[in-house]
Amino acid sequence: MIDLRSDTVTKPTPAMREAMANAEVGDDVYGEDPTVNRLESMAAELLGKQAALFVPTGVMANQLSIRLHTKPGDEVIVESTAHIIRYEGGSASSLSGVQLCCVPGIRGILEPDRVATAIRPRDVHNPPTTLLCLEQTHNSGGGSVYPLATMHRLVGLARENGLALHLDGARLFNAVAATGVSAAEYAQPFDTVSFCLSKGLGAPLGSMIVADRERVTQLRRLRKIFGGGMRQVGIVAAAGIYALEHHIPRLKDDHVNAKRLAELLQTIPSVSVDSKQVETNIIIFTVRPSIKSTDELVAECKQAGVLLNAVGDYAFRVVTHFDVSAQDIEEAGRIFHKVFSN
Ligand SMILES: *Cc1c(COP(=O)(O)O)cnc(C)c1O
Repeated sequence: MIDLRSDTVTKPTPAMREAMANAEVGDDVYGEDPTVNRLESMAAELLGKQAALFVPTGVMANQLSIRLHTKPGDEVIVESTAHIIRYEGGSASSLSGVQLCCVPGIRGILEPDRVATAIRPRDVHNPPTTLLCLEQTHNSGGGSVYPLATMHRLVGLARENGLALHLDGARLFNAVAATGVSAAEYAQPFDTVSFCLSKGLGAPLGSMIVADRERVTQLRRLRKIFGGGMRQVGIVAAAGIYALEHHIPRLKDDHVNAKRLAELLQTIPSVSVDSKQVETNIIIFTVRPSIKSTDELVAECKQAGVLLNAVGDYAFRVVTHFDVSAQDIEEAGRIFHKVFSN
């Protein structure tokens, strides 16, 4: 089965498992797990910040950051299709008591003028806008990369208006692989940045939040409150270290595979996709509506040997990753041709 549903489906390699088995551990709630401490230093250094915190999931990384930057009743600006609004179970409102102000972007990328209009004037009637969250790369935008210049204009706008800044960098290293801009350069203007070890980097779980030392101290306390304080978690952190040391360069292969698959999809008359827009490891495409439903098309692909996710009516997402080879891509192309041409 060729699994293109997500880059989260990768399994730890034998070498990664060996690193996990050999990890030195201690009680991380007491700050005594040497492997976690090493991972946190590595992440901070890679992103050019003072400190970092290891958390179980990307959702927790985003939600701890939202809690850190806001008070109940505040408003947080996100792009309309952001992971934070679509895929985090309503946690910003339930865990931090904030409301989200959704601003539509282009393939997930916000336009500064629209954000400027969304920032509420300080007035007793209005919720205070206190945080802007950006997503790099943008999942629902089809793995789109925030151009540095656009990011800096948004950052400037946020600063002028006293907003805090969080970057949901779940796939930050995909942006790095696509552009050659360093992770530290992308992270520099943000107060908090999260990234996932469990996607293209191939660890079984784990995300990082990086920030200055004082914020990380506050985040550590919030992690405990949210139930994310872990004990001998160095066995997992070791997978993260292994991923950061060995798996960053190979993200480029996923991008080559995604581009190739988009080109193959483009040759199918009923499929709409622009391979030139595929910048990283995610492809979103649509299929001309037919008597077969979206779910039936997903089921037919599965029957033929490819898993993919529907993201809307006749809209699909495929994601390339570590466990998909160039050969698998050719095979997936043939299967899509067969299923979508009928
Ligand atoms: C996957 C993802 C997350 C975190 O999800 P988890 O499943 O909790 O790790 C956050 N933001 C984006 C953009 C993502 O794609």
